Amino acid sequence: MRLDFSYPPRHGSGEVSVPDTVRCPTCRRVGPWAGNPHRPFCSQRCKLADLGNWASERYRIAAERVPVDEEESEE
Ligand SMILES: [Zn+2]
Repeated sequence: MRLDFSYPPRHGSGEVSVPDTVRCPTCRRVGPWAGNPHRPFCSQRCKLADLGNWASERYRIAAERVPVDEEESEE
């Protein structure tokens, strides 16, 4: 049986491990976590880009969403 001290188990509930680096959801670039005001994004540009994508996606879905409450009845 090995004891891997460098690889602690993640079963501990309530223990939040702060990563050293974070992967930007927008450009997939790995940047530092500490001292990054835009985390999990690498920069404000990616942060705004992600928010823009989310907003446009939301608007697009809202635009395509038509009320189909009583459309099921064929006769
Ligand atoms: Zn980025």
